Parts: sequence; structure tokens; C-alpha cells
Amino acid sequence: MHRPLFEQDHEDFRSLARSFLEKEFAPHADEWTAAGLVPKEAYRRAGEQGLLGTAVPTEYGGGGVDDFRFPYVLMEEAAKLGAPLGGIPVHLFVTTPYYLRLCTAEQAARWLPGIASGETMTSIAMSEPGTGSDLAGIRTTAVRDGDHYVLNGAKTFITGGINAGLVIVAARTSTEADNRRAGLSLIVVEDGTPGFSRGRKLEKLGVRATDTAELFFDDVRVPVANRLGDEGRAFEYLTSNLGVERLQIAVNAVVQARAAIDRTIDYVRQREVFGGSLSRFQNTKFMLAESETEFEAAQVLLDRAVEELLAGRLEAADAAKVKLFCSEAQGRIVDRCVQLHGGYGYMLEYEITRLYADARVTRIYGGSSEIMKLIIAKSLAL
Ligand SMILES: Cc1cc2nc3c(=O)[nH]c(=O)nc-3n(C[C@H](O)[C@H](O)[C@H](O)COP(=O)(O)OP(=O)(O)OC[C@H]3O[C@@H](n4cnc5c(N)ncnc54)[C@H](O)[C@@H]3O)c2cc1C
Repeated sequence: MHRPLFEQDHEDFRSLARSFLEKEFAPHADEWTAAGLVPKEAYRRAGEQGLLGTAVPTEYGGGGVDDFRFPYVLMEEAAKLGAPLGGIPVHLFVTTPYYLRLCTAEQAARWLPGIASGETMTSIAMSEPGTGSDLAGIRTTAVRDGDHYVLNGAKTFITGGINAGLVIVAARTSTEADNRRAGLSLIVVEDGTPGFSRGRKLEKLGVRATDTAELFFDDVRVPVANRLGDEGRAFEYLTSNLGVERLQIAVNAVVQARAAIDRTIDYVRQREVFGGSLSRFQNTKFMLAESETEFEAAQVLLDRAVEELLAGRLEAADAAKVKLFCSEAQGRIVDRCVQLHGGYGYMLEYEITRLYADARVTRIYGGSSEIMKLIIAKSLAL
């Protein structure tokens, strides 16, 4: 179906992104998957092309247009090419909005140029070994000591954590026994700060070209000037940005589902079974027809939600519905696509196997499907 979402500017950006990714990212997919990360130099090159700072104001070296559709287009093109993006989606959709919304003028001048140029990649550290879904359970502490906070604690599963130059750490600055949501603050920890260390680069089932890390904070002294926003308001900031984060995961789900269907159509056309093409069986046609229909429904829902976001009307429950539907649809689609590949669908050298492994996490991170259902049920006053 025709998609009214994108305009000429987005299509121009699409061409730029595609030719850049084709030359600079796609050829390195195997190498970066084996290394478990996208190298810093590749991020710098993406920054030079203007791919990382579209939303950053022009005075800080960005494109000055805060529009979800630019990174959406970038992810579509990367998925078509099978090009790993590493920490870029989190940098663009998840962390940059915090800096744009909460930085003081002094912080903006200090951090935004590097964020736009790709010199400084960014991560956000909410999850801890003991708490993920339950954000209010964060135990990392930031205790005020004069002009500094002293951070202690551990974070885990942090996307881009190995290569990040700046990490937004959600930490507890005070404790109220009867309100666990109060007393959380966002503190930006810079690479090289004494006491801040990175643990293992975690070995994952999928998304293997993205570094995912444990981070440790051992008496880390961070200037109060590195706090984003007001002290004690992090829970509010985090929950208000989670809608965008969830739409980003839905984008990821939809573009990867598209890639799975396209790869599978190519495969069933050329695979010979019982003296003819696999595509001639009604079962093959039906499985792909179901997948295509679910993909289309997911994409229409997502595009509609992006329009709502752009109009400033996207509610938390809307974002939850979109993430739930798109990620669950992706799971069903990639599963069928693996089935149609037979044994080859189980071999790591086939792209469908990577797409299958990568898909599993979209139902878990950024709030699991169960948490999405809780949010939706709450909107029904249940
Ligand atoms: C690859 C990857 C990248 C990630 N990147 C980041 C990152 O950059 N920054 C960051 O902060 N975090 C990140 N995460 C963490 C991610 O957001 C959490 O893993 C996720 O929120 C789930 O938390 P958990 O792992 O602690 O699971 P748990 O909260 O322990 O959940 C376990 C199970 O219990 C279910 N459950 C929990 N609560 C309820 C409930 N109330 N009702 C019903 N069921 C419930 C869950 O749905 C799940 O099925 C990442 C995770 C992964 C795997």
C-alpha cells in the first residue's frame, strides 16, 4: 500500500544513507559480527555523512530537524542491505532525545557537537543485574558530595556500552520508603572517569555486531554539572521517552521482518524440491502470504503511530501496542521463513538464521511483551 509518511527530504536522505551503508557498512557485516562491535571509526564516518546528527541543532553541527522519519529511513536501508548498525539506533532514537530535551546551554555546547559528528557515541544505563522491567527498583546510588556526585553500582545489558563516550546513568539520589519512583536522577558519566569500568562484552544469541556490556561504578566522582535535568525526576524523564524507544524497536522489528520475507521469496524460488521449485507449493505461497499480510499490518500501524508521534499525540499505551504487535508479528514471520529454508535455515551462514536470532530480543528489551500488555491494560482502566 502507498505510504504517505515520507516526503522528498526523507527520500533524499534514504539515497544518501543507502549509498553510504552499501560502501562503508554492509561489506563489514561478517567482520563486525565476529568482533562483536562496530568500530568507532565507522561511527565517525557515518557522522561525517550527517547520518548521526539530523536532530541536533545546526549550531552544534547537526541537521537541525528533529524528525523520527530520518533514522527510520536509515534503519530501513540498513535492513535491506543486511548492514549492522551497532549502537546507532540507540544513539539516534533513545539517547539523543534526552540530550536535546534536557541539556543546559553549557552541556549542549560540551556534548552535542560530538554526538552529531559520531566522535562521541552514547548509551543509556537503566538495567541492573537485579532489575530490568521494574525500573523503580534501580539500586545504583549517586550521593552528593559538594560539587560532585559519587556513583556506586552496576549496570548490565547496556547497548553500545563498550564504545560509548557518554553514558546516561539512571541512579538513586535519594530514597523515599513509600515512593520508589522518587529520588532517581540521570547522571552523564564520561569515558575515562576514574572508577568507571566496563565489564565483559556480553555474548548474545543475536544482534551480535552490537556491543552489549556490563558497566561498573566504583566511587565514581561526577561533577553535578553532568546531571541531565532536575534531581529526582529521572523516572518521569525515562517513562516519557520510552514511547520513542518502543517505536524504534517496532521499526527494527518491521524492517527485519521485511528482510526475512524478501530473503525467503528469493530462496523458495531457487530451491528445487521434488523436481521443481519450492515456491510452487500452496503451503509455501500461504506461509508467505500470511507473513506479507502481517508485515503490512505491522507497518501500517507503525507508520500511523509515527504520524501521531510527529503530531505530539502518541500516548504510552499507543507505543506499547505498536511494540507488542510489531515484535510479536516479527517473531511469527521469521519463524515461518526459517521453516521454509529447511536445514539451511538453521545454518549460521544463511542470513535468515541471523534474522531469526536477532528477532528474539525485540519481544524482551525496551520493556517486554508482558510489560507492554500491563501498560495497555492500565489504559483500559484494568
Ligand atoms: C540485547 C539487549 C540490549 C539491551 N540494551 C539495554 C540498554 O541499552 N539499556 C538498558 O538500560 N537496558 C538494556 N537492556 C535491558 C532490557 O531492557 C531488559 O532486559 C528488559 O527490560 C527486561 O528486564 P530483565 O532482563 O531484568 O527481565 P525481568 O524484569 O527479570 O523479566 C523476566 C520475565 O518476567 C516478566 N515480567 C517481569 N515483570 C512482570 C510483570 N509485572 N508481570 C508479568 N510479567 C513480568 C518479563 O516480561 C520477562 O518475561 C537490554 C537487553 C538486551 C537483551
